[in-house]
Amino acid sequence: MPTFSLVLSCEHATDALPPDLYGKLVIDPERARSHRGWDPGALEVARALARLTGAPLVAGVVNRLVVDLNRTRGAARFSYESRQLPAALRQHLLERYWEPHVAALTALIRERLMSESSDGAFAMVDAAVDLDSSPARGQVAVSSRETTPRAVQTAAKRGPGGSGMPVLHLAIHSFTPNLNGEKRRADVALLYDPRRSPEAELCRRWAETLAMQSPLRIRRNYPYRGVSDGLPTYFRRHFAEASYIGIEVELNQALFRAGNASASTGEALAKFLLDSLIA
Ligand SMILES: [Zn+2]
Repeated sequence: MPTFSLVLSCEHATDALPPDLYGKLVIDPERARSHRGWDPGALEVARALARLTGAPLVAGVVNRLVVDLNRTRGAARFSYESRQLPAALRQHLLERYWEPHVAALTALIRERLMSESSDGAFAMVDAAVDLDSSPARGQVAVSSRETTPRAVQTAAKRGPGGSGMPVLHLAIHSFTPNLNGEKRRADVALLYDPRRSPEAELCRRWAETLAMQSPLRIRRNYPYRGVSDGLPTYFRRHFAEASYIGIEVELNQALFRAGNASASTGEALAKFLLDSLIA
């Protein structure tokens, strides 16, 4: 079974607008607070995943309508509103928000691939192992039967890592339940590149287990394609498929609405995701 070094990100974590952009950026507050501006619920899940595994999380700090951290090409990073800005201000936004986010993630992925001992090593093996007995060499194992968040966290902190361990980058997003009259028929979707077999295989198994272990409706490469412009697509150009596995986890925003039949907390969703990932 594969062993990963886990890295988490949340590009559309907040609806925050910059306090001042020389009065030049005009964004309707209602639009800024809507799903156009951010991914409600995503940060809550990303934070819970980080807490449960000890893995690092890089989260965006600005509204998507200012600059979209999950777009990698020129103008695609700007909304209708921010495209109206003078070029110098757009450049300022890239340097202030986009570059630090992507640089932090790139550094984490690199560091984990190079490092002899990577913290946050995240083992997925079958055998039951006593977490209190120190493994002589190699990976820390997490029993699929005895996996609890606590055990995962312990393993993550103690993981000795080593060369050859791929990075598993999970980018946590959420999507609106209805878009332009279309009702989305999924609670959780895993987006990946079907041409990269480690990603395809992991998502196939993960989706299968998640569907068995949770009441959630699971889809793959829905409602978007995993190879569209986004940070995992960008990192795939820089890292080989044996080193980098990039998956966008898309969560239906209806899951976070009280009163919904399948409403859930970020913590509960994170546990579903994690338990099925390491099962
Ligand atoms: Zn998003």
